[in-house]
Amino acid sequence: MNRLRLRTPNSLPTKDDNMRIVFIGPPGAGKGTQAERLIETYRLAHLSTGDMLRAARDARTDVGRKADEFMSSGQLVPDDIIVAIIRGRLEQPDCREGYLLDGFPRTIAQAEALDAMLAEQGTPLDVVLQLQVPEEELFRRLAGRGRADDKPEVIRQRLVAYREQTEPLLDYYGKKGLLKSIDGLGTVEEIFDRAKMILDKLLGN
Ligand code: ADP
Repeated sequence: MNRLRLRTPNSLPTKDDNMRIVFIGPPGAGKGTQAERLIETYRLAHLSTGDMLRAARDARTDVGRKADEFMSSGQLVPDDIIVAIIRGRLEQPDCREGYLLDGFPRTIAQAEALDAMLAEQGTPLDVVLQLQVPEEELFRRLAGRGRADDKPEVIRQRLVAYREQTEPLLDYYGKKGLLKSIDGLGTVEEIFDRAKMILDKLLGN
């Protein structure tokens, strides 16, 4: 599946055959579940800013403490904090073989910062996958989840943040010709198959 691993030592190296994917979707869309399957199937590094921030918060680092002020009320953490985290993470060796950005970028400023970093490295994105789920369904799913930031008023704030700050990215990436949308209603398997179809096509399989 992953072409890097199938390549024999004496085959000609291609310019760049690792997938760099941005995964966008509102809170509750099921991104986490699909991300786990995608990274395993395509051997990608999983870069979840939500997970990174929760780890920082639990470790009580300065960044974690600061981030928690925003996370606990459903607001986005300031761009400079997030961009610094991602910059460091993208420099790690495991990212050379492709990665799935899960929960980043979430603002236009973050997307522009990402573009600048990737241009510097000469490693453009391959695709932006959007998981689409209607808002009533999101609220229902989130309310049943029980995470600390899943209180109704915090959920509402996270949905507002998504609509106002993250949704503009759909247009941003659409204009670049990178956006592919997936219907996020159905079984985990059905949704995964939709994503797989898009990625396999990109890989030429
Ligand atoms: P969800 O997608 O369910 O909202 P995440 O785990 O992706 O949850 O993120 C949890 C919280 O972490 C967000 O509500 C936000 O406060 C913060 N966060 C995560 N990623 C970012 C980001 N790229 N920019 C700003 N804040 C972020």
